[in-house]
Amino acid sequence: MSSKILDGRKIAAETEQKITQEVALLSNKGIKPTLATILVGNDPASETYVKMKQNTCARVGMESKAINLSDNTSTQELLKVIQDLNNDNGVHGILLQHPVPQQIDERKCFDAINPAKDVDGVTSAGFGAMSMGLSAYGSCTPAGIMRMLEYYEIDLTGLHAVVVGRSPILGKPMAMMLLNANATVTICHSRTQNLECRVKEADLVVGAVGIPNFIQRNWLKHNVIVIDAGYHPQQCGDVDLEGIENIASFHTPVPGGVGPMTINTLILQTLRAAQKASL
Ligand code: NAP
Repeated sequence: MSSKILDGRKIAAETEQKITQEVALLSNKGIKPTLATILVGNDPASETYVKMKQNTCARVGMESKAINLSDNTSTQELLKVIQDLNNDNGVHGILLQHPVPQQIDERKCFDAINPAKDVDGVTSAGFGAMSMGLSAYGSCTPAGIMRMLEYYEIDLTGLHAVVVGRSPILGKPMAMMLLNANATVTICHSRTQNLECRVKEADLVVGAVGIPNFIQRNWLKHNVIVIDAGYHPQQCGDVDLEGIENIASFHTPVPGGVGPMTINTLILQTLRAAQKASL
């Protein structure tokens, strides 16, 4: 048996071609899809992520409007920036790079984003709507994972999905998306007891913990589908993937699995927001 790779790079490259064509169509009508990126402070990892997002925009012909704020920005100042972007008809999507410096009320700032421009899927309103199965932009990493599962025609109906992690941008929305796709979902976190046993029950496991190689390969059931959302500088994820090809039925590699789908989903959702605004 050999586990099939869920190839995020391939899907992202294919989708980018389609996005580029749709962006050109919209641009010909005088509408340039535009993503505003807000970076507060100078955390090197965040700077890199924002740069990658801007580069992807440029590749597909979208505009990006970079707003860089100092480390000591206050919540009020950031709220004002977000309000101005909400009111700017030339901006279709707003990305506030997470995390922001400690003095800022991040949730308040996320929730100030107009849901119509919430292409990163971070607002409470967007999360609520998505959870209810209503139209909303999903949080990009879990939404990217769902697109990947769809691409490989993996039917989630009745599968027991175990999500390890419950962050607002990853674990929680992931669990709701899997539930909406008719999986039976268990959400695990740092207070979960007998985590190994929970993971052993999974037909599909999502690693969203933020600890390198945390989920051990001997916790995995034979034929499990492994989604590793983790990414660490040592080029590994949250699941110990060594020998995974002999255990899983499908798995996401690290790098090249979940990561490329996240930015791809961001630009896809920005395009959709621009298309909606043009109607
Ligand atoms: P986070 O906000 O730190 O959340 C981590 C979650 O893991 C929390 O819910 C925490 O539980 C849980 N956890 C921590 N220690 C645990 C333990 N010993 N046992 C069980 N659960 C435990 O992290 P995040 O933002 O969701 O990110 C998670 C991972 O995904 C990171 O590796 C990050 O780099 C990666 N990520 C990748 C992308 C991408 O584009 N590929 C995007 C976002 C994140 P509590 O809630 O109880 O504290």
